[in-house]
Amino acid sequence: MIIDEFNRIHNYLRISITDNCNLRCFYCMPEEDYEFTPTSRLMQAHEIEALAKIFVSQGVNKIRLTGGEPLVRKDAAAIILALSKLPVTLTLTTNGTRLHEFTGILEEANVRSLNISLDTLKAEKFQLVTRRNQFDQVMKNIELLLKKDFHVKLNVVVMSGLNDNEINDFIEWTKFTPVHVRFIEFMPFSGNRWTSNKVFTMQQMLDVIEEKYSFIRLKDEVHDTAKKYMVPGHAGTFAIISTMSANFCGDCNRIRLTADGKMKNCLFSKDEIDLLTALREGREILPLIHSGIQKKAKELGGQFTPDFELIHAEDIHNRSMITIGG
Ligand code: SAM
Ligand code: SF4
Repeated sequence: MIIDEFNRIHNYLRISITDNCNLRCFYCMPEEDYEFTPTSRLMQAHEIEALAKIFVSQGVNKIRLTGGEPLVRKDAAAIILALSKLPVTLTLTTNGTRLHEFTGILEEANVRSLNISLDTLKAEKFQLVTRRNQFDQVMKNIELLLKKDFHVKLNVVVMSGLNDNEINDFIEWTKFTPVHVRFIEFMPFSGNRWTSNKVFTMQQMLDVIEEKYSFIRLKDEVHDTAKKYMVPGHAGTFAIISTMSANFCGDCNRIRLTADGKMKNCLFSKDEIDLLTALREGREILPLIHSGIQKKAKELGGQFTPDFELIHAEDIHNRSMITIGG
């Protein structure tokens, strides 16, 4: 088992398979001229498989593929199929733009649930956030996946003054459609223009929803980062991921592997452990994993306190989200 000094058991690995992306969400990818990591420095498919197997041998039983956009990687299908042979629940987080090319692979790999990011229900705002014109394609793909009975979770990053006025439009969508909306508080990463006044907190979201709907709290699943709710009678549910205003670090079971093969013991950790170089040099990986997790900070990567209003984004040492893998 992979355990840290606070006795948290780590059984969930999130693997970024690329830092490349076909969208340019301003809160994730800092600059238009961002340079993607050259392929030779990325984990190759067989290296991803080899590292995943080592984690699985230590009790990891859930793997999420992410990025960048995982489905822009040329060998994404091969990676998905290889990992589907491991005894894990396999899932992915995607911007949804290329899902229509992958439904067969996902079915073959027995991926039944996935997270699709969509911050707005308005085409013009989608263009503003992502700097790309792919709204219709993403909407079409969400419908396609629902038709094929996938469990679809929608990741919505809520930012004050940008899309907080659409929260109830998303709730309305859950009335007849079995989508599971997850509102995410805006988090600070390198170069993402985060300021505390752009955070729209869980309590603010609940207040907005309460103005129009009555809802009930659903039971939390173990290790779930999202607090779940539903409006009685609606086909879908909603949830809130309150990293900034009420973190869930106490129960964290997550390990991250960046596309260039560095292990991060926390989304906000400044330290990284280079597993890919060790693998390429034939060095032992297990001691690196265990000692890296042992050093995990109690909360928020040890970089800031739960009082998010005191955070100065420029003081945080971390990568941009696109290079970590959300
Ligand atoms: N490209 C895929 C996608 O967009 O779903 C996967 C990678 S993306 C980095 C993973 C998730 O992180 C997305 O849901 C995205 O909205 C979220 N994310 C990125 N930057 C964020 C931030 N600053 N605060 C909160 N969530 C963020
Ligand atoms: Fe790409 Fe996802 Fe980041 Fe948007 S959030 S730029 S889709 S990786």
